[in-house]
Amino acid sequence: MSVSKLIGAVSAAMMLAAPAFAQGYPERQVTMIVPFAAGGPTDTVARLVAERMSADLGQQVIVENVGGAGGTLGAGQVAKADPDGYTVLLHHIGMATSDTLYRNLAYDTENAFDYVGLVTDVPMVVVARKDFEPADFPAFVSYVKANGDKLTMANAGIGAASHLCGMLMMQALDVPLVTVPYKGTGPAMTDLLGGQVDIMCDQTTNTTQQIKGGTIKAYAVTMPERLALFPDLPTTIEGGLPDVQVSIWHGIYTPKGTPAEVNQRLSASLQKALADESVATSMAELGTAPATAEQATPEALKAKLESEIARWKPVIEAAGVYAD
Ligand code: ASP
Repeated sequence: MSVSKLIGAVSAAMMLAAPAFAQGYPERQVTMIVPFAAGGPTDTVARLVAERMSADLGQQVIVENVGGAGGTLGAGQVAKADPDGYTVLLHHIGMATSDTLYRNLAYDTENAFDYVGLVTDVPMVVVARKDFEPADFPAFVSYVKANGDKLTMANAGIGAASHLCGMLMMQALDVPLVTVPYKGTGPAMTDLLGGQVDIMCDQTTNTTQQIKGGTIKAYAVTMPERLALFPDLPTTIEGGLPDVQVSIWHGIYTPKGTPAEVNQRLSASLQKALADESVATSMAELGTAPATAEQATPEALKAKLESEIARWKPVIEAAGVYAD
């Protein structure tokens, strides 16, 4: 057999093998890596969908937290995993911003992953410890401008959503705050509640209960419109900071080379999970909403990632913030 015929025969066999592999998928548990600490906003979203996806797939989708380096450690772990559909990544906007923020990222963002679909888009809130002096957002802005060098701002490392929002705020206020990085805003919230750090930008999926319970202070939302959940909270635009606008989209990825049928199976399962009324209710209680069926597709996530890398690149370059 000639070499070209042999290659043809091998690839034909592989094409036949892929659907057969996908048909039986999944035959064992699937690990969903969350690149932040347990108990934080991304973990909360992941556990909500993983539970419903487990029911649909007939196998457990186990959430594993691999926090650190703003989400890049966990993403790097998935980039290196076998592309067999048994390791997936649930990450957020940090997947796009890290591509510019890190000079030596351990993976090539646009070529190391395949796509399953978008999950949700979460608003952020500017919050502070309960006894933080300013009474409202205008007072917060003046206070932070005047005392920036004495204030600490928690985040989940360079590449985290809390870092991005903090970076936009420091740029808008022209004040360098002392940042305190955590493996996720779950542990950062513990310190904010304890008063060990002063301020943070965090997603409603991690702040809603505390704001409602009065255990932290909320100042503004980073969305163009006020949230139904907190109608009294002004937007950053109303507060004169139109550049501090960001919402935290989340998506599910697989390692590059995962059979397309497997990604489609996971996408169908994600769509079912997001259509579940209990998921929609839980998300609404946390100030967010499930992605639509059209958004929960490989094509939509790929397009989102590409457009968001392009969108944030000039913003990050203007801020001049980088990590190695
Ligand atoms: N999403 C991160 C977490 O789950 C926090 C962040 O990105 O700021 O901890």
